[in-house]
Amino acid sequence: MQRRQFVQAVGAGSALGALGLVSGCASVGGSSAKVVVVGGGYGGATAAKYVRLWSDYGIDVTLVEPNAAFVSCPLSNLVVGGSKTMADITTPYDNLVKRHGVKLVRDSVTTIDADKRVVKLASGADLPYDRLILSPGVDFMWDSLPGMNKPGAQDAVLHAWKAGPQTLALRRQLEAMPDGGVFAIAIPLAPYRCPPGPYERACQVASYFSKAKPKSKVLILDANDDVTSKGPLFKKAWAERYKGILEYRPKHNLVDVDVAGRTLKFEFNDDLKADVLNVLPAMRAGAIAVKTGLATANKRWCEVDFLTHESTVAKNIHVLGDSIQVAPLMPKSGHMANQHGKVCAAAVVALLSGRQPNDMPIYNNTCYSFVSAEDVVHVSSVHRYDATKKTMLTVPGSGGVSSAANELEGRIAMGWARNIWADTLA
Ligand SMILES: Cc1cc2nc3c(=O)[nH]c(=O)nc-3n(C[C@H](O)[C@H](O)[C@H](O)COP(=O)(O)OP(=O)(O)OC[C@H]3O[C@@H](n4cnc5c(N)ncnc54)[C@H](O)[C@@H]3O)c2cc1C
Repeated sequence: MQRRQFVQAVGAGSALGALGLVSGCASVGGSSAKVVVVGGGYGGATAAKYVRLWSDYGIDVTLVEPNAAFVSCPLSNLVVGGSKTMADITTPYDNLVKRHGVKLVRDSVTTIDADKRVVKLASGADLPYDRLILSPGVDFMWDSLPGMNKPGAQDAVLHAWKAGPQTLALRRQLEAMPDGGVFAIAIPLAPYRCPPGPYERACQVASYFSKAKPKSKVLILDANDDVTSKGPLFKKAWAERYKGILEYRPKHNLVDVDVAGRTLKFEFNDDLKADVLNVLPAMRAGAIAVKTGLATANKRWCEVDFLTHESTVAKNIHVLGDSIQVAPLMPKSGHMANQHGKVCAAAVVALLSGRQPNDMPIYNNTCYSFVSAEDVVHVSSVHRYDATKKTMLTVPGSGGVSSAANELEGRIAMGWARNIWADTLA
């Protein structure tokens, strides 16, 4: 690897666990080793780029992703709130191809043959691999909400929890809602993708209503006993900024949706009718991981060896990002998926080069939440591998939270987004 590239890679905010890497000759049977990456989101795109970089472009990397461009969930709540556009959160994949020589295949993986080390694509083609990296994100457990399985239901009641067409569609529903209407967001029991994300969304909708539809209301119906992330900070923002507009109701476990009647049905609480429903169903690992038998924790999440991200049940298959069974206090976040991507890339390069992976990976995480179009609160943490417990543990004294929402952190959050998009995709 050229020194300049190495310095760029590390300087771009690499997982500390990758430090100390030296490139090696990664070949299998005399030809370049082959890595296939499934999913070009925060975890997969990062892993694809860094396997190329850290193998000194010696490992052949193919990234399979059905979407034409990367659309970021972080900041997508600002599109729902109306202060950002879809263009602001969309980045093309071009640089992964042009600068890093990643082979991009616009397709979906339908099956994985772990014995033969081949993935099959929806188009019918086969892709062989030496190591497979899976970062398919989350999928929704619709069976837990029978009404959402009726024809047309999922087009009428949106989740907007995968940034893309639904993000804009939810914005349109809010614009079409008359002043005096009610927006209700239902939050599933943790763990789910992005713990603070639903509360940020509620803030964004309340911010929009306070300016454009002041007679309207936001209701948060949370299956959890309390706000799952940055609770005191969100509650302070709600009391100071959105009093009379936003109401938080914990212990509301959603069990069904009457889509035609725009009504939420709960395990113990009264039914609730609203004008715009935003339902976040229970989540699990991306469907391809579940179908391949990798979701060994409660049939929902994929257990991995945190030194390499290799699945505990399938050799040569590494799983990243939201799909994994997280370590204690590890959030399902884009920042964390990016860190997984680098630790996994470093391990895959080492394994394919006949070297031992780093035995002390360290991750950091910061999640910023916009409580208005400008003001932000954050939570941060550092996680280090514990060889005795064989998991990642938070480093005592690391991390922390904001003292209150502020505009400076709003600017820092925008810088965070630009940096992580560049680190992942540029
Ligand atoms: C509203 C919202 C706000 C958020 N805000 C933040 C934030 O501020 N900060 C933060 O750090 N995180 C945030 N997150 C969380 C973050 O988006 C996720 O944690 C992150 O995207 C996880 O990365 P991933 O690689 O696991 O999944 P994704 O980024 O979702 O990528 C998965 C990719 O896999 C592809 N895929 C799936 N199945 C297949 C298949 N069979 N074949 C090929 N490709 C496939 C998908 O098309 C997708 O592109 C937010 C999430 C939401 C919903």
